[in-house]
This record gives sequence, structure tokens and C-alpha cells, in this order.
Amino acid sequence: MIPILGQTALPIPDGFHNEPPANNPVVTGDQVTSDLVLDADVVVVGSGAGGAVLCAELAHAGKRVVMLEEGGYHTHSDFKGQEGWSYPNLYQDRGGRATEDQSISILQGRGVGGSTVVN
Ligand SMILES: Cc1cc2nc3c(=O)[nH]c(=O)nc-3n(C[C@H](O)[C@H](O)[C@H](O)COP(=O)(O)OP(=O)(O)OC[C@H]3O[C@@H](n4cnc5c(N)ncnc54)[C@H](O)[C@@H]3O)c2cc1C
Repeated sequence: MIPILGQTALPIPDGFHNEPPANNPVVTGDQVTSDLVLDADVVVVGSGAGGAVLCAELAHAGKRVVMLEEGGYHTHSDFKGQEGWSYPNLYQDRGGRATEDQSISILQGRGVGGSTVVN
């Protein structure tokens, strides 16, 4: 059988939510209006592929883990399919990150999920 180009994608469940769930553990910067004191065994900086897996493994091992992420927390309804929104909101340096001598550009994500959000 010849596959048909343009066929509707398989019905893969959408893991993102239009709105965060009620028990969402993510605290965004705009929700922090005073000093926030958290008690943790481990703090992981960065929520990308490396940080997220590390956090999951530590949590499964019974550690209390806090993950810090400098970028935004974006869910399904935020994604517009437009580069004009995506580069400034989902990439380090608005997509313009490069080596110090500017000879090599570096696309790197910035947000909860890190580069996995854009790869
Ligand atoms: C466009 C694109 C396509 C890709 N396609 C593929 C693919 O097809 N297959 C594949 O295997 N890989 C792909 N990759 C690569 C893959 O996404 C990365 O290798 C992987 O995500 C790196 O994981 P990481 O945890 O090291 O860093 P990242 O996922 O980049 O996460 C780092 C996180 O740390 C945060 N952070 C950095 N500094 C601080 C700080 N001081 N304080 C708080 N937070 C901070 C950043 O905002 C970011 O969210 C792609 C990458 C890009 C950009």
C-alpha cells in the first residue's frame, strides 16, 4: 500500500493542557509576590531534557526536589505557530544565541521544558 501524503495525523493524545491542572506544581514568577521559602533536598537549575530527567529520578528516589527555570511556562493555548511569537518567547536570546565570536549560532530553548519544547 502506498502511504498518502497529507493524510490526517494519527490521533495521538495531546499531553498539553489549555490551562494548567489544579494541582499543578509549577509556580510562575508573577505568582510570587513575597519571599518564597521552599524546603528541598536538591535544587536543579534548568528544566530541559537533562534537568527534567534528573528531577524525575531524584523524586522517584524520594528526594524533595525544586527545579528552577528562567524561561516562561507555556501551555497549548500559548502556541501560535508563528515565528514572530515563538523566537522571543521560546528561545534563548530570542533565537540569536551564538558563540562569543559570533561564528556559530546556537539554537537553544528557554522555558519550562527547555529545548525539548522547540525540538
Ligand atoms: C530547534 C531544535 C531542534 C532539536 N531537535 C532535536 C532532535 O530532533 N533530536 C534530539 O535528540 N535533539 C534535538 N534537539 C536538541 C535537544 O533539544 C537538546 O539536546 C536537549 O534539550 C538539551 O537538554 P539540556 O537539558 O541540556 O538543555 P535544554 O533543554 O536547553 O534546557 C536548559 C534549560 O535551562 C534553562 N536555564 C539555563 N540557564 C538557567 C539559569 N541560570 N537559571 C534558570 N534556568 C536556566 C533554560 O532556559 C532551558 O530551559 C533540538 C534542539 C533544538 C533547539
